[in-house]
Amino acid sequence: MEDADGSFRMASRKFRREDTVVEIAASYGAAIGGGGFFVIAGPCSVETEAQICAIAREIKALGAQALRGGAFKPRSSPYSFQGLGADGLTMLLKARAASGLPVVSEIMEASQLPLFAEVDVIQVGARNMQNFELLRELGKSGKPVLLKRGLSSTIREWLMSAEHIMAGGNPNVILCERGIRTFETATRSTLDLSAIPVVKELSHLPILADPSHATGCARYVESMALAAAAAGADGLLIEVHNDPGAALCDGPQSITPAGFGRLRAKAEALRAALRDS
Ligand code: PEP
Ligand code: MN
Repeated sequence: MEDADGSFRMASRKFRREDTVVEIAASYGAAIGGGGFFVIAGPCSVETEAQICAIAREIKALGAQALRGGAFKPRSSPYSFQGLGADGLTMLLKARAASGLPVVSEIMEASQLPLFAEVDVIQVGARNMQNFELLRELGKSGKPVLLKRGLSSTIREWLMSAEHIMAGGNPNVILCERGIRTFETATRSTLDLSAIPVVKELSHLPILADPSHATGCARYVESMALAAAAAGADGLLIEVHNDPGAALCDGPQSITPAGFGRLRAKAEALRAALRDS
């Protein structure tokens, strides 16, 4: 449904004044939005059962609230590792059982939805933000959807994609700013920090920041994560790998569990300082 001015409606602050809080699998008692700070961490891709279970336990001990791991990977090159598919999802669910963390994984097409029945949060990647057929099916599913911003999409287009999911009957949308394409090439993308306050003004939906894909470089992840926390993000999505040099996907931007522990502690300290100021 659209407003008379051709804008989003259900995703709009005008439609709902209070912040939306998205419950992640009630049995975990986890929720995104509403003043908390929700941190999702894990490798770009599920590689082996041992790898994903080990990372899951480590990040849980360091304060992560959910585990990410891609099984279906949208790779720019057809010759790169494409993910383990359904086997990867099975391993991710084993890591959930081993760690107690809810899991997040990316879907690439609507026909894969039955495979995601047990997955707690379904991620729609930047390259699929305007896959309207997929958004329509996710609208019917009722599951929490983590909707990444498209590589070259405006905030308004992004919110319209959220609207597609919501108009289908699913209010459980979490936005994720993951950087946009600009003329700058020193970083993989440009993290649009101002999107955070803009989205907060235009919409009631929670918004996370992903400094891993935005910068493409592990050395810049912590500072941009803290900047996003200061800008008012409801949480973070961070790529963490036990051995970034050997990662099958996105190793250069992956931080280690130790680095994640430092980032998590600093983000908490920053939020506490901002609360007390
Ligand atoms: C990912 O999260 O691994 C991913 C592919 O992200 P994006 O869609 O933001 O590029
Ligand atoms: Mn990745």
